[in-house]
Parts: sequence; C-alpha cells; structure tokens
Amino acid sequence: MSILILGGAGYIGSHTVRQLVLAGEETVVADNLITGHKQAISSGAKFYEGDIRDTVFLDEIFTKEKIDTVVHFAASSLVSESVSNPLKYYDNNLGGAISLVKAMAKHDIHSIVFSSTAATYGEPERIPILESDRTEPTNPYGETKLAMEKLFKWADKAYGMRYVSLRYFNAAGADESGDIGEDHNPESHLIPLILQVPNGKRKSISIFGTDYPTKDGTCIRDYIHVTDLADAHLKAVKYLRDGGASDIFNLGTGNGFSVRETIDIARQVTGREIAAIDEARRAGDPAVLVASGAKAKEILGWTPQRAALSEIIESAWKWHSTHPNGYEDE
Ligand code: UDP
Repeated sequence: MSILILGGAGYIGSHTVRQLVLAGEETVVADNLITGHKQAISSGAKFYEGDIRDTVFLDEIFTKEKIDTVVHFAASSLVSESVSNPLKYYDNNLGGAISLVKAMAKHDIHSIVFSSTAATYGEPERIPILESDRTEPTNPYGETKLAMEKLFKWADKAYGMRYVSLRYFNAAGADESGDIGEDHNPESHLIPLILQVPNGKRKSISIFGTDYPTKDGTCIRDYIHVTDLADAHLKAVKYLRDGGASDIFNLGTGNGFSVRETIDIARQVTGREIAAIDEARRAGDPAVLVASGAKAKEILGWTPQRAALSEIIESAWKWHSTHPNGYEDE
C-alpha cells in the first residue's frame, strides 16, 4: 500500500517525503506547485500535479494508486495574508479538506495525518501549552486549521476516518544533505530572514517588538527541526496503521528562545556580524509560544533528536548558504 502526500513539494512536506522514501515506503505526492517546488520532491516518489479542491484530480489518484494513508500538508500558511484575505484561507484550507474528506469517504480510505499549528491556540493560557488548552485563534490561518481539525473529528464519527492532527510550533532547519530546505516567497519566517543578512540579501534583520513581558523584551518561540517534524509524521502513520485512535499532538522541543537569542546563535553559527534593528511589534504575535511535547512522546514515542537551536540553524545555513535564491539555484 502507498502513502499519499498532499503538498509534498512544500517545505515540511518535501522533508517528510524524503524520510518516507528513505524508509522504503511507496510514496505518492500530489501538489499544485503554487508554493511548492518540483525539485524538492525526492526522486523515489511518484508525482501528480494538481489541486486537492479538484475532485476529478483526487478521484484519479485514488483510482490509480492503492493508498492506505493520506498525509495532508497542502494548505496556505501565511498569517498576515490570512488576515487580509480570509476567503483564500477558508477556500484553500477548509475547502481543500472538505474535498479531501469526500474523496476519502468515496474511496474507503480511513487514515489521515495532517498539519495543524500552534496558531490554533491563539494567546496561550499557560506555558508550556498542552493539547487540552483553550483554542482561540487570533487569525484566519489558525481558525481554518482548527476548523479542519473539527471537520476530521466529525468525519471520524460519521465515516470511521481516523486522524492524527500535528500542531507544529516553529518549523526550522533543513535536511542534513543540504539538498532541500526552506524556500518561501515572500519569506516571513525569522530564521531564513536572519540568514539573508550573511547571505548578502538584506542589510539587517528587524526585531518586531522589544517590549514584550519576556527576559529580553522580544518574543519567545519553540523552534523545531523540520527533520524531527518529518519523523513525527512517520510515527503518526505507523500509529494509525497499528489501529491508534484519532488524536491531536503538539510538536515542539519544549525549549523557548527569544528573537535576540536566535539572532545571537545565528551570529555564532555563521561567524558573521548580523545587524539587527529594533522595530515595533508585529500585529497578532503572542509573547511566548512553547509546546509541551509530553503527549507526543508518550503516545507516538516521538522525541526531537535535533533540539539544539545551534544545530537547527546550522542545518538551515547549510541550505541557504548554498542556495541563496532557493530552488532557483538548482
Ligand atoms: N520576527 C522578527 N523579525 C522578522 C520575522 C519574525 O522579529 O523579520 C519575530 C516574530 O515577531 C515572532 C518570531 O520572530 O516573534 C517568529 O516569527 P515567525 O514569523 O518565524 O514565526 P511565527 O511564530 O509567527 O509562526
């Protein structure tokens, strides 16, 4: 049986495809290549180009391939864009999930692992955040991911479709080979933006907010290596194949780093001066987001293997320093 990876040409999707292929899984990728990169897809995977909202396209894949589990990454993920264009997020994220559930029900496919996010929590009620904590998203991105979780919950009750929802904290880093990595356009994430400075692509990094109630006034985040995220998907697939019940897991290291600390570690890793400029807060950023990873450890047997932020940034630097223009350099 094969695993279908929707959005397998994207950042986290492509790293998961790589691990699945290395593990000897029959891997089928579908991606509309709007934000994904064809070069990111491991050569051992079979590729279909198309959009998950296209029911004919999904029908074709489920008819031609023997799929037992779907791993679903195909979604829009820019917080600020979701605020200015919520319809895009409802259409692509929730609309995509509705189309997918219909196709899975029609073709009797009963297992799905999908990407959720720390943005489902909104402003956290405590740190570290537990899966059972309040979910009150502060933007349409988090809201549509939470709506997807609820859709899958009801699809389980109605159609016996078991799911694992993985709530990522801050995905970062790149595959150890240096062949695949992060390439967003526009880039909005802290670590790739910091590394644009030593790469000569920007003069300085902006620090968004220096008056947060944290040790140095800047926001604290839980950065998790993309290869550790990929491993969690393999463990979630195994969990569902072994008959595990539907569930939701945080994926983070449990360690928080401030924006200033993150820039300092990037200076050490790259050996370069990285100019930083204090700026106003970015709208909608919670002061601190740190996961409790205890549930994923206990139930999935998952613990991050690359938890040191220096190691995460080193792997990102290996990719960005050799691909300053991302996949365009291939
Ligand atoms: N950030 C920053 N400068 C930037 C980009 C991000 O200071 O150029 C901060 C941002 O305000 C947040 C943290 O870095 O506190 C992580 O932001 P990112 O967009 O990478 O991830 P998010 O936590 O928003 O998902």
